[in-house]
Amino acid sequence: MDTQDTLEGMPTRLFSCTPTKLDTWLSCPRRYRFTYLDRRPKGFPWAHNSVGAAVHNALRDWWSQPVERRTPEVAESLVVKQWLIDGFRNDNQAMEWRDRAVAMTTAYVATLDPDDEPAGVERTVSTATHGMALSGRVDRIDRRASDDGGEELVIVDYKTGRRPLDTDDARSSLALAVYVVAARRTLRRRARRVELHHLPTGTVAAYDHTEESLERHLGRAGDIAREAMAAQSTWKERLAPLAEDAAAGDADAVEAIDAVFPPVAGPGCSWCDFRKECPEGKDQSTALHPWSGLAD
Ligand code: SF4
Repeated sequence: MDTQDTLEGMPTRLFSCTPTKLDTWLSCPRRYRFTYLDRRPKGFPWAHNSVGAAVHNALRDWWSQPVERRTPEVAESLVVKQWLIDGFRNDNQAMEWRDRAVAMTTAYVATLDPDDEPAGVERTVSTATHGMALSGRVDRIDRRASDDGGEELVIVDYKTGRRPLDTDDARSSLALAVYVVAARRTLRRRARRVELHHLPTGTVAAYDHTEESLERHLGRAGDIAREAMAAQSTWKERLAPLAEDAAAGDADAVEAIDAVFPPVAGPGCSWCDFRKECPEGKDQSTALHPWSGLAD
């Protein structure tokens, strides 16, 4: 179900979504259709996603260890255990990157206090607001002392990509703002700070949200959700039966579907999982190797 009733008898319906789903609609409605409506299988796995998944899973498992086992050595064994070889050029490259993943993860956990139990690890949080039933999974939710001597939650997102991050990235992230609001509701505690922990450089990009900045994000999210919800309704009512004809090359069916789910093609299509089946995306971008997202 993509929509749900708010309360029995009320006409307003909530659009069930995650920040990723909203971002997908915003970046390319055709990609949204392929992902959430057609549910097409994705293309080849990316090596940088394998690195990210192994590091995230290892950090999740690290926090589930007894306190005395929350050490860099255990982190190393967890990365090795969680390692994935999908998307690498060959075994040598996979092993080189496993060593890099071990190095960044052990260096990172060496900066953590094992006794500082998080409020949540890979915790799902949710809230209903601005016409949406929003949910998402947060890498880590810390408890920190607040300025007034109390305690507040901090949203922590791990990053393993090659680009270092700054305050603007933390401030402008729709997902992180949504997590603040959803964590408040789910854990019933104060929250305003978001942090991007970039493991390859050991840096933290942080931003302290205000009520105004959160409202701006939620208002924007609500606008995106309304558009996506309307398109989704049109899909169900009118366009879904045309999908087979469109796939077979029927120009009228393609045109009708593209009018509601237009492609937004550009150089970024190189990273799209559906590039191979998207003529406009192929025209506007270059083909990449599955390992192209790894740092030099
Ligand atoms: S290749 Fe580009 S235009 Fe095509 S679906 Fe993907 S993001 Fe959209």
